[in-house]
Amino acid sequence: MRLVVATNFDNDLIEKISKYPVKYIYGSQTETLTGHGRASFILPKVNDEKLKEHISVAHSYKIKFLYTMNTANLHGKEYDEHFLNKLKNEIEKLINFGVDGFIVALPFLIYFIRKEHPDIEVSVSSFARITNIRKVEEYLQMGANTVIMDEDTNRNFTLLEASAKLAKKYNADIEVITNNTCLWSCPYKLIHDQVTSYLSAKDGVKNVWFEYPVLFCATEVRNDFANIIRMRWIRPEDLHYYEEIGIDRFKIAGRNKKTDWLVNVVKAYSEREYKGNLLDILSYVQGRATTSALRRINESSNYEILMKVYVDNAQFPPNWLSYFKYNRCEERSCEECRYCDIIAEKVIKIDGKPFFQQQEKFKPQIELIPRFVSHGEDNR
Ligand code: SF4
Repeated sequence: MRLVVATNFDNDLIEKISKYPVKYIYGSQTETLTGHGRASFILPKVNDEKLKEHISVAHSYKIKFLYTMNTANLHGKEYDEHFLNKLKNEIEKLINFGVDGFIVALPFLIYFIRKEHPDIEVSVSSFARITNIRKVEEYLQMGANTVIMDEDTNRNFTLLEASAKLAKKYNADIEVITNNTCLWSCPYKLIHDQVTSYLSAKDGVKNVWFEYPVLFCATEVRNDFANIIRMRWIRPEDLHYYEEIGIDRFKIAGRNKKTDWLVNVVKAYSEREYKGNLLDILSYVQGRATTSALRRINESSNYEILMKVYVDNAQFPPNWLSYFKYNRCEERSCEECRYCDIIAEKVIKIDGKPFFQQQEKFKPQIELIPRFVSHGEDNR
């Protein structure tokens, strides 16, 4: 098992996770030239000194540092010589700071980085949204060392197995993300990637304090709790399904999380076991981030229930994931299949009571979006 763990730039985190099979940490400065995969307002402030120091602490524990330059869009700046010079200098600076590799989502950035640094490690981000074998092949041919699959593929074992075999031929790895809570086949994901990239770029949108696409997916969860089971997270107990098909590189998300939270998650995946509410080790933005954002504008009443969801990790049937080896969710309607509904009834409790399906459904209140911007007050 090799864990690739999000860092919050707390140096103590590194010491605490170093006893587990953590091979890499990853992260970036807060607002960056290109933008990246997490909105800057949810991240700690990281200046050059802090970055350099954190990388050197990681190296002292023999943990490598991957820099997330995984914007989903450069907004045409590829045409701008001035920007390209700045980008070249930025990459030089990061490599001089000790960065061991980059996580990128754009082919342009793979070519750009590799032109000057042919041997630097490159991982292709989940923001490249890789969901089929030809895309895996294309990125391997571009020279990627690691391909991070779109979470949507996490239960498509045929694709994952074929991808792992292919990657091996290129002496490369397939990596899967363990603990994100994007909806299965989320219709909001592409725009969320774009919005996040804007919100983390130096020249992006300013003063925003909540990523509005999360309101959309939180509403989907609020309307149907079985959506939590449909999400493509991986339970610590189920890592062996991936190892059996040649994937042993697991990414743990949580760049915005506190040290204790990250340590708890690393421990759970390292020990392949978590007893308690599965949501405690998942990003679960639909619950925590959404309710606190909506509380701030006094609009949380319909969403408070998301904080009362308990997914009892001990109640999953031992081979529950085997179902996905034979069922192709890509071509099957969830309403007809209902497997996730059945699992939801077994494992989910709301406010201590057995799962029940809500009757009343809501639409996301898009009129709230302009209220997620501050006008002079502190953003954090
Ligand atoms: S098709 Fe069935 S198993 Fe797949 S996500 Fe939908 S309900 Fe779950």
